[in-house]
Amino acid sequence: MDTLSNSLAAADMAHTLHPNTNLRAHEAQGPMVIQRGEGIRVFDDKGKEYIEGLAGLWSVGAGFSQKRLADVAYQQMLKLPYYHTFTHKSNEPSIRLAEKLAEITPGPLTRAFFTSSGSEANDTIVKMVWYRSNAMGRPEKKKFLARTKAYHGITIASGSLTGLPVNHRDFDLPAIPVRHLTCPHYWRFGQEGESEAVFTERLLAELEAVIAEEGADTIAAFIGEPLMAAGGVMPPPAGYWEGVERICRANDILLVADEVICGFGRLGTPFGCQKYGFTPDIMTLSKQITSSYMPLAAVMISDHVYAPIADNSAKVGVFGHGFTASGHPVSTAVGLENLAIMEEQDWAGNAARLEAQFQGGLRSFADHPLVGEARGDGLIGALELVADKATKRPFETVGAVGRMAAVIGHDEGLIFRAIGDQLALCPPMIVTADDIDEIMARMGRTLARLTDAAHKEGLI
Ligand code: PMP
Repeated sequence: MDTLSNSLAAADMAHTLHPNTNLRAHEAQGPMVIQRGEGIRVFDDKGKEYIEGLAGLWSVGAGFSQKRLADVAYQQMLKLPYYHTFTHKSNEPSIRLAEKLAEITPGPLTRAFFTSSGSEANDTIVKMVWYRSNAMGRPEKKKFLARTKAYHGITIASGSLTGLPVNHRDFDLPAIPVRHLTCPHYWRFGQEGESEAVFTERLLAELEAVIAEEGADTIAAFIGEPLMAAGGVMPPPAGYWEGVERICRANDILLVADEVICGFGRLGTPFGCQKYGFTPDIMTLSKQITSSYMPLAAVMISDHVYAPIADNSAKVGVFGHGFTASGHPVSTAVGLENLAIMEEQDWAGNAARLEAQFQGGLRSFADHPLVGEARGDGLIGALELVADKATKRPFETVGAVGRMAAVIGHDEGLIFRAIGDQLALCPPMIVTADDIDEIMARMGRTLARLTDAAHKEGLI
């Protein structure tokens, strides 16, 4: 290792506390330091090249070297590096981005509230929904419905909506009133002999039963990712979202689409809700809104959500919620330029055109002895590794084989995310057909080495 790599590794191990990391293991193994990016590729501090098969954290749609975004950020910093949006102040990029989002999001979503992260956006939604219920004289209507394996963030409220044990355990979450319903993943949670249609009916019956048990008057909102991503890439069963929407409408429950990953073309439609045929009252956007070149998220709301909130703010004098960086001019300027690039390059169309090749590539691994299910929609997918294909039995030590796959993947020049033993792919939106062939070739070589390697380590 050269001196730079050595000193970076030593400083990282001594001074950083990494998110979502086994901290003791990190002290021993050190970091993977990524130094530069080019298109769909990144390069580490030793110059090794990788295809970024997860687009960073499901987010760098424009790829890692889009100069237009750097130029816009630089120009905006020269012109006005910061201004806020409190107390009637505003700035041009945040106004134009709100207008653009109102134009391109489906249905009645007309207003944007900006935050810096998806977690803050979902916390904002919880507070907006509570504030609205209070404003409407319905202080009992506060509970949220979410799903197990959902990912909505890690702050106190958004982390409560998340349905993953690792984000709850030892953090004393959930800390807000939320019920987690069955994860709508047919392959894993469908019962023996149950058809997909019957599975959907069972989940919708569960939703109705929970509403009846809790009382519709106590439930404010249902939140869901159109396709559940960070929990393991699980597309919904047919008819699920239409049913959820119908039941929410019948019970006066707001429907929140968390489009932090599915938005901006990922599934081959502009937004994920359009892929699965439902119209939310509230939408969370982040990640590909700026291709993660700057931190930014947006809460989109419709007029019927807005009106009681606005009325109450007039009554009490102010809507008492907001962040220093809400509507940050550099982030929103980068967001605007990124959405212009998205439209010029037709990301949704690109995903729709490449979907069959990408999903077909993943499914070509379904015969591998360790692959239980190959799944996904649009340009997002996963391979779930199992100990026993026939029974779908997971490995005894969950995550060990997945971690080994990620290490071999790195060696083969492919970065994907091992979510336990689920290997997730979500490449930048600029991928081409040739890139997908290369991604699948590297994944194929990774899987070919995995069985032997896992045997040797006594993992299978
Ligand atoms: N919602 C969804 C659907 C997400 O995937 C994520 C992040 N992966 C979040 C919310 C939280 O976003 P952030 O990490 O920016 O707080």
